[in-house]
Amino acid sequence: MEFVRPDSIDAAVAALQAENAACLAGGATLVAMMNADLVAPDRLVSLRDVAGLHDAVRKSDGTVTIGAMRRHRETAEETDLRDGQLVLSDAAGKIANPPVRNMGTIGGSCAFADPAADYPPALVAADARLLLIGANGRRTVPADEFFLDWYETALEPGELIEAAILPPAPSGSVGSYTKLARVAGDFAIASVALVLGMEGDTCSHLAVAVGACGPAPVRRRDVEAELLGGGLGDSEIRRLADALADGLDPVDDVRASADYRRRVAPRLVRQAIGEAKQRLSGAA
Ligand SMILES: Cc1cc2nc3c(=O)[nH]c(=O)nc-3n(C[C@H](O)[C@H](O)[C@H](O)COP(=O)(O)OP(=O)(O)OC[C@H]3O[C@@H](n4cnc5c(N)ncnc54)[C@H](O)[C@@H]3O)c2cc1C
Repeated sequence: MEFVRPDSIDAAVAALQAENAACLAGGATLVAMMNADLVAPDRLVSLRDVAGLHDAVRKSDGTVTIGAMRRHRETAEETDLRDGQLVLSDAAGKIANPPVRNMGTIGGSCAFADPAADYPPALVAADARLLLIGANGRRTVPADEFFLDWYETALEPGELIEAAILPPAPSGSVGSYTKLARVAGDFAIASVALVLGMEGDTCSHLAVAVGACGPAPVRRRDVEAELLGGGLGDSEIRRLADALADGLDPVDDVRASADYRRRVAPRLVRQAIGEAKQRLSGAA
């Protein structure tokens, strides 16, 4: 196996065009998979020295770009994220444990697309886009079109993730990530990423994504749109929670049964929205 360490994004993309080449980011998953003989790349392209992949940048309009090599610990502590964008730092802080958070990167997590991972629902709720670069140049893909199926993304062969781009969240909105796991630090049984804005009793922004209950995060934009501009009482919250539950496609695994996930996810949605509402009314 060949190991290459490019120092620019163009050199990394060029190196990735070889057959059976793979990016190496934090290595938290890839190295374990190589050790278990589950994958055997012919060329490993280390992203460690690639300039421009390690930074988070906040633009004057509030858009935040997080480089693919940003570690989970850095994203958990990111001061450039504001208002509802904090859904991402909340999710980052709930990934695994300190060693994994020091090692894993947002690009590696998104590319691997574990259906129980914490970033995918957070990025979907934040209306984020993934910036991809390949031999044909750059393109951006909305997060909810990037995570396609079990461990499957919109990445084409020879492409890499350059960054996640978060649009500004409405001023005063809150972002939160609620994770149900067997023990602290485990992958989620079910999770809820949420961005909520209220103007008085009126719901002015609502984005809720459920994770770990199917191949990709589930969001019901149709129901969110119906609830915008009205009150967000128990019946409205229940309506969204039930609609989300209808869209889930969970499986039985070592963490929980599909049936348990179907039952617990709508409760988690109701809990997350209730807590966010409380935080907003406390802030008023
Ligand atoms: C013990 C343990 C517990 C964990 N618990 C959790 C958890 O609770 N929640 C959670 O969300 N995650 C969890 N993870 C996953 C972890 O957080 C990392 O996100 C994950 O390991 C991948 O990130 P990485 O940077 O290490 O990528 P790597 O392991 O280096 O790469 C993973 C895959 O992504 C590809 N890749 C890497 N970077 C890019 C890029 N920029 N563009 C394109 N492809 C790329 C690689 O080629 C490889 O196929 C856990 C991992 C471990 C080992």
